[in-house]
Amino acid sequence: MLTVKAYGATSATDPLAPLEIERRDVGPNDVLIAIRYAGICHSDIHTVREEWGPITFPQVVGHEIVGEVAEIGSAVTKHAVGDRVGVGCLVNSCGECEECLDGDEHLCANGNVGTYNSVDVDGTITQGGYSTHVVVNEDFVLRVPEAIPYEKAAPLLCAGITTYSPLATWGAGPGKKVAVVGLGGLGHMAVKIAVAMGAEVTVLSRTDAKKDDSLSFGAVRHVATGEDGALESLKRSFDLIINTISAPFSIDAYLRTLRPHGALVNVGLPPEALELHIGSVIGGRKALAGSNIGSIKETQEMLDFCAEKGIAPETELISADQINEAYDRTVAGDVRYRFVIDTATL
Ligand code: NAP
Ligand code: ZN
Repeated sequence: MLTVKAYGATSATDPLAPLEIERRDVGPNDVLIAIRYAGICHSDIHTVREEWGPITFPQVVGHEIVGEVAEIGSAVTKHAVGDRVGVGCLVNSCGECEECLDGDEHLCANGNVGTYNSVDVDGTITQGGYSTHVVVNEDFVLRVPEAIPYEKAAPLLCAGITTYSPLATWGAGPGKKVAVVGLGGLGHMAVKIAVAMGAEVTVLSRTDAKKDDSLSFGAVRHVATGEDGALESLKRSFDLIINTISAPFSIDAYLRTLRPHGALVNVGLPPEALELHIGSVIGGRKALAGSNIGSIKETQEMLDFCAEKGIAPETELISADQINEAYDRTVAGDVRYRFVIDTATL
């Protein structure tokens, strides 16, 4: 066992605080990673505040992890000491179900092991990346291309793959009109990736405050949805909508902005149920879908795509003692566009 420094939650209401946690010994197929940076995803906040349901405390979250390989197990072949690597939302899966055998371990039929708050194969509860070290099975460790600086790579491990996967799956590309709803951590990556894929991108944000940013990320248009009649004026506009909103919202209004045969893919995961008038999808033969991160293979593809296209997130580097403030700022929409923790400050 390795005792390491971390920053985590001891209850749903107390601020996060410094903690010490145990990492398992490096097994034959494991990699020990010295973590350099960890991104703050809104899912970390939903989780520790128990907005999605009860969790196990103490809990160290964080599933946007980058660092260097510090030690490898005797059977490891994919990574070497000193390699630049990343870990996203998954650290294991059954490896035997139809989905795992198809390379879709994020859809594992027997329940994959999440990077935090999940029961690991040894029965312990996984603890995430707001920490100095983590031990992960080599199959769930990604290679971080040299072209992407460490702190810029961290948000790609969740925000990047969660937006890349539906954009690729639903065919964002030349001739496609894509809307991105919510310009936060996921949303700004969705804009950059969709633009790089060749789509025409519109940002749907609550206000005009981030308009200049949207245009600088390559969007052709930024619409303030809080203004009267804004969504109504966009009827039949988009082939694909990627929705990243983290709070309850009116889905029918967005469905009306789709063209016939268009699809609205939800990646945002508000804790509350949404109301839907089913006529919103029947007229125009529209599709309403959801998408959950992406596979390990697709995550590597996304990292390589971002390196090749020169895509990187906008990040604000923080020290560990700023994590609680960063949570409040994220919930208030005051993030441009991803907080990244320097783990040297833990
Ligand atoms: P974030 O940085 O906080 O961005 C969310 C954005 O949603 C905000 O920037 C804001 O955009 C918009 N928003 C927030 N509150 C709103 C409200 N009340 N009404 C309308 N719009 C609102 O969060 P994130 O890290 O990108 O995560 C977004 C959501 O995706 C979270 O629910 C998270 O748990 C989920 N998620 C899902 C997956 C998956 O695999 N499906 C993976 C990661 C995260 P504007 O200010 O531009 O309006
Ligand atoms: Zn996430």
